[in-house]
Amino acid sequence: MVSFRNYALTALALTSGASAFTLNPQQTNIPSLRSSTSLSMSTIEAPVRKPETPERVNEVRERFRSAAKDAANARGCASPDQNDEWWRTAPEDFSRNISKDDPLRVIVTGGGVAGLVTAAACHAKGMKVAIFEQASQYAPYGGPIQIQSNALRALERINPTIYEEIIKAGTVTADRVSGLKIGYKKGVFLGLGKQYEKGDWLVKFDTLQPALDAGLPATVVVDRPVIQQILLNHGIPDGTVRIKSRISNYEELGKGKGLKINLDDGTTAYADVLVGADGIWSSVRRQMHGLNSDADGFAASGAAGGALTEGEARRMAKDSVLMASGANRRFSGFTCYAALAEHRASNIEEVSYQILLGKDKYFVSTDGGGERQQWFALIREPAGGVDPEPTPENPTPKLTRLLNEFNNEEPGDKNGDVWDDFAHELLKATKEEDIKRRDLYDGSPLITQGWARGQVAICGDAAHPMMPNLGQGGCQATEDGYRLAEELSNVKHTSDIEGALQTYFLKRIPRTTIIQTIAQLGSDLLVDFDLMMTIPLVGPFFLMATQLSMPFILRFLYTPEF
Ligand SMILES: Cc1cc2nc3c(=O)[nH]c(=O)nc-3n(C[C@H](O)[C@H](O)[C@H](O)COP(=O)(O)OP(=O)(O)OC[C@H]3O[C@@H](n4cnc5c(N)ncnc54)[C@H](O)[C@@H]3O)c2cc1C
Repeated sequence: MVSFRNYALTALALTSGASAFTLNPQQTNIPSLRSSTSLSMSTIEAPVRKPETPERVNEVRERFRSAAKDAANARGCASPDQNDEWWRTAPEDFSRNISKDDPLRVIVTGGGVAGLVTAAACHAKGMKVAIFEQASQYAPYGGPIQIQSNALRALERINPTIYEEIIKAGTVTADRVSGLKIGYKKGVFLGLGKQYEKGDWLVKFDTLQPALDAGLPATVVVDRPVIQQILLNHGIPDGTVRIKSRISNYEELGKGKGLKINLDDGTTAYADVLVGADGIWSSVRRQMHGLNSDADGFAASGAAGGALTEGEARRMAKDSVLMASGANRRFSGFTCYAALAEHRASNIEEVSYQILLGKDKYFVSTDGGGERQQWFALIREPAGGVDPEPTPENPTPKLTRLLNEFNNEEPGDKNGDVWDDFAHELLKATKEEDIKRRDLYDGSPLITQGWARGQVAICGDAAHPMMPNLGQGGCQATEDGYRLAEELSNVKHTSDIEGALQTYFLKRIPRTTIIQTIAQLGSDLLVDFDLMMTIPLVGPFFLMATQLSMPFILRFLYTPEF
């Protein structure tokens, strides 16, 4: 449990630290939400919520289905019979000058958000790029994610077409209320304070103003397969991604002399640079940091890449416990159930994102666009748990559990708390087979270990796995991709690569360390919120501190400098 003192100190540190990153909006170009080109500050417009038309609802849902189908069919990925790719042969001399005609050769491990964005950013700078993805079916798990203002700016800089397509596909959420609510009726200790009814707002966030102040577009929510489709179609040449290609290890051929990369299937690849965008259980990081053989495995992180069947997910819940100890990753204490419900939420015109807080659990929901709600139920329990198999008596074990955990009728949940109806509204609109469960892991910032050695670097969850409550894991991966390509684009000779990768690490580590820390603290605090807010004097102060620190945190997140 995070103590109040720790919380207050951290809030203070963050608020003062955050101000150092506050922007001068005059220095930025601002893309208008209603215009797809870069425009000046004066043209930025605050989005105004308009109810979705049936056409828009249909368009969003169809786009999701077609993107998911493309992903399942590995559309745009390399044909398995191909054997003439550039990476199969080493250049005559690895140690060489880099030019337009003889560009850097970059191999990226992992085709999640980090891998695809990094590849798109390197390709945009004229480098040769290939992605090796271990999954047999190239289909990211899960519904939509928030592409926040900072990541939108990174995408725009990488490739304006990607940015425009993401904005077009996305649903703006900053035009309505977001924040924390109490899940059930809760009084302050001995009645010495306010009595909260279930569903009362505790803290509200304004995610729009910090973005507008920084000259950034408002956050949008986009389906993961759609993001993937856009990056594949507009970011990299067809065939850049090779599926069923798990990297097992790499060999360094000497300073400035490239790398030999070995795949599990016996294939060998040669490159100047290897980027490990292979998620929280990164094989590249395992070798780079000299971790033991338990530290990686065929598994994907939280809501991240890699197609997982129910059987694979069950196995992974157990395997992850072992991998976490080998990889020095931290079990967050939460298991997370997630789904996307095709349902027009009763609060859709007023609320875009809310968390219902409770004891040892919370229920997060966000407008996914197309009259769909994405929800996450985070429950504190030991790692490695799995749900019982469906039986004729209980054909929906996950739903049954969740309906009990967030029971909205007497006698309430196992603590006797009767929950706000909203969790039940979404759960009842969800099919059992659409509910996925994963334990959530994160990690400490890799400040001393680093993110780069020689000509190898890591990015995304491999470098900074974080709790999902800030919705920044994928956004930080996007910033990484941008920064990595920027630094590599300065390389004039292969002997410069090592320095470029160290610069990338040094530029990224302060920001991601702060964000990882806030995400971890925020997550720990959410479950203790219910206790903290009911302590006389401390409770009101605690709520006020949270309310006051949010604009600073958002201002820190929404910087166009990364
Ligand atoms: C519940 C939840 C909600 C979230 N919501 C948001 C949000 O709203 N906004 C946001 O920005 N972030 C969000 N995140 C975080 C985000 O999902 C992750 O940070 C992001 O997906 C990480 O991307 P990645 O590419 O680094 O890793 P991954 O997505 O894990 O991708 C790694 C890829 O590497 C492959 N791989 C692994 N090992 C190998 C190997 N040896 N060889 C080849 N391939 C390999 C894997 O199969 C996988 O496809 C959320 C996370 C969770 C859990």
